Amino acid sequence: MPTLTYGSSLAPAETPRPRWQPLRRGFAGRCPACGEGRVFRKYLKVADSCASCGEELHHHRADDAPPYFTILIVGHVVGTVLLAGEEWWPEAPMWMPIVAGLILAVVMSLALLPRVKGALIGWQWALRMHGFDGTPAEAKFVEGT
Ligand SMILES: [Zn+2]
Repeated sequence: MPTLTYGSSLAPAETPRPRWQPLRRGFAGRCPACGEGRVFRKYLKVADSCASCGEELHHHRADDAPPYFTILIVGHVVGTVLLAGEEWWPEAPMWMPIVAGLILAVVMSLALLPRVKGALIGWQWALRMHGFDGTPAEAKFVEGT
């Protein structure tokens, strides 16, 4: 386990990375390494590498975490809004909270899903997880043989 001191004599692959900046960059849809290039080439399709700095992004293993966290966030917000709306406006027609809740859930899910996925990719990059350790792929191939 490398120590977390900056400016030490650690190899580049062991140099600690900032944690929150890559997460914020990923949330904004930007490359966690440089903050300039885009993480996604389509709505949820991650680019193989950053067009700006060349950082390989295909190593990510976001898997089911983005939908999990999106559902967690959206569920809490929509549930809270529905309960508060029932408390504040009890004479509202029964269909109104159902329609409003559905629209809010769909809009929030579509807006949050790529942001949460980008943030998770940024977090994985910051922690050097899943191939984001800075070691060239050729070196891993040689080490693995
Ligand atoms: Zn980049």
